[in-house]
Amino acid sequence: MRLEGKNAIITGAGSGIGKETALLFAQEGAHVTIVDINETGSQGTIEEIERAGGEATYIHCNVTDEKDVQAMTKQVIAERNHIDVLFNNAGISGVGQLHELDLETWLRVMNVNVNGVFLVSRAFLPQMMKQKSGSIINMSSCIAEMGLANRAVYASSKGAVLSLTKSMQVDYAPYNIRVNALMPGTIYTPFVEDYLSKDPDPEAAVAGIKKRQLSNELGKPIDVAYAALFLASDESKFMMGAPFMIDGGVVNG
Ligand code: NAD
Repeated sequence: MRLEGKNAIITGAGSGIGKETALLFAQEGAHVTIVDINETGSQGTIEEIERAGGEATYIHCNVTDEKDVQAMTKQVIAERNHIDVLFNNAGISGVGQLHELDLETWLRVMNVNVNGVFLVSRAFLPQMMKQKSGSIINMSSCIAEMGLANRAVYASSKGAVLSLTKSMQVDYAPYNIRVNALMPGTIYTPFVEDYLSKDPDPEAAVAGIKKRQLSNELGKPIDVAYAALFLASDESKFMMGAPFMIDGGVVNG
């Protein structure tokens, strides 16, 4: 097993990519702490992990709330002692052209997607620095490397995560901590289902997604989970500050 005896924390593991990654990490021998505001979804993740013989814990925590994050970190460190993997995955979407976008939407997306990564990373870094080990995986998106209609705020948030990843890597390399970013393309999760359901022509929207790709399939959460597993494991020990593209060939195709 590739994560035997390791402790992993995954934010946003009550749904989608985070959930699939939690199942895979547990299957590979890790204890997974699920950090999410979605209680029902997170309990579902725990049940699936336990049914498969794995181990997981759920902590209700809003990644944008400093006090919540501090309490969650304290509990995880007390219970697990050693922190091997932190996957900053929780995120939300934001759609609209800039001239029509209200400040509230801009701040909400930035708050979850960027401030959340800052707060949770800041909280776990001292423990990883003390250990002199750790792998941090930040959820960016291939959109950080391209222009896409109506997605300025979301793209800006994911661009910030990519920059943050590179700076963090430089600062924490001396502590033997690796920090890398995942750059998925469109992955079929509740997040994408939600925005497709609001599209006046969902079939055309799916065709548009496929047209941007080289692959003729829509990405699945497991496609990203395998990349996260690689970054979490020692197999990726020479990857540092790297953007890891899993996009069916959108950006480099
Ligand atoms: P999802 O909506 O299925 O899951 C996101 C999870 O994050 C949910 O369980 C939600 O409750 C949790 N969450 C949201 N805000 C939170 C907060 N403030 N505190 C704690 N938890 C919170 O989404 P997904 O598609 O699995 O996306 C996961 C990540 O991947 C996001 O960061 C997203 O931006 C990124 N991403 C997704 C795609 C895609 O096409 N699905 C592509 C590129 C990047």
